Amino acid sequence: VSNTGVAGLTLGGGIGFLMRRHGATVDNLLACDMITVDGRKVRADESENPELFWALRGGGGNFGVVTSFEYRAHRVGPDVVAGQLIFPFDQAADILRRLPAHLATAPRELGLLVAIAPAPPLPTLPEEVHGRPVLVLVVVHTGEPATAHEVVEPLAALGRPLANLVGETTWVRANSMLDAVAPYGMRMNLRGGYLPALSADAVDVLLASVAAAPSNPGAFCTINLSFMGGAISEDADEDAMAFSREGAAWLWEAIGKWDAPAYDAQYDQWATALTEAMRPHALTNGYANLTDDLGEEWRRGVHGSEAKHRRLRSVKAAWDPHNLLRFNKNIAPESVAL
Ligand SMILES: Cc1cc2nc3c(=O)[nH]c(=O)nc-3n(C[C@H](O)[C@H](O)[C@H](O)COP(=O)(O)OP(=O)(O)OC[C@H]3O[C@@H](n4cnc5c(N)ncnc54)[C@H](O)[C@@H]3O)c2cc1C
Repeated sequence: VSNTGVAGLTLGGGIGFLMRRHGATVDNLLACDMITVDGRKVRADESENPELFWALRGGGGNFGVVTSFEYRAHRVGPDVVAGQLIFPFDQAADILRRLPAHLATAPRELGLLVAIAPAPPLPTLPEEVHGRPVLVLVVVHTGEPATAHEVVEPLAALGRPLANLVGETTWVRANSMLDAVAPYGMRMNLRGGYLPALSADAVDVLLASVAAAPSNPGAFCTINLSFMGGAISEDADEDAMAFSREGAAWLWEAIGKWDAPAYDAQYDQWATALTEAMRPHALTNGYANLTDDLGEEWRRGVHGSEAKHRRLRSVKAAWDPHNLLRFNKNIAPESVAL
């Protein structure tokens, strides 16, 4: 979506429709100004405080308060080809099983999010599917618009879409097309992780969880799969910064959104059961921003290797030795026993 804050997004990593072309947000971060817990203003970049800069790129709000970010910019659009291919749920298993082979030669200009979500009440969709689960391929092609059909048409041909809403638009509109499905103010839980492959077994688990999802008025559950590869996977060294992406071909997410506190337990149980069922298919590293904190073992593995975890704890000890910044996905200073 277009409206999450840039600070938390960047410090955790930052992924989206451009990651296959231009990498994660942190891959494009050049420098930060930060206020330390004892009130000093410092700069962090490759030459000044490089250890801090290493940790700020993925370690979240653990080290200080960042007051400015300097990024490498890329020209995108302004015209792109983007939109949604909406398929009936009963085609989801077949499409998802064929999708990885189909994407093996996908260009970096293709950004793709797969969503299994309740169908919006669009006049282009048959009324009987409104509110029922559908499979949506959310496509953003930022390459030459005239060539986008070469990528989009084969995706549409993976099944028989209920609606093909992909067309020419602007990058700014494409990047906000999902804002409407992320309303403010609801209760929410978020689970997820990296998948080394979109295996048939993982697809079975995800699809089975759709039937098990709680259903309450005004509430909804969505499963997302973000297609990685390209720049985010191939152009950066895993150890170059705290953010981890090693081995990740897809990122899966389960999102529950509801209003009444009385439903909290239902959504928690659904998400917890799904996380457990996905564990054998997922990597131990992950993207900290797109899941709730899952506890000590998760925190130890989310940034990748044990060596990276130790290095983060050592940077934390240097910049926040008393763990004042601890109401976050916490990296404990190395002096604290875990
Ligand atoms: C609907 C929705 C969609 C999302 N989609 C994406 C997506 O497509 N891609 C993606 O990468 N992420 C996505 N996210 C996750 C998003 O990256 C995180 O929620 C991120 O924390 C948002 O940053 P914020 O500044 O708004 O967060 P806040 O809630 O303000 O902060 C979260 C944490 O970040 C730290 N922090 C924030 N600002 C600073 C600062 N200036 N200095 C130091 N630490 C700070 C703090 O630890 C804070 O607790 C999504 C989240 C939601 C709710």
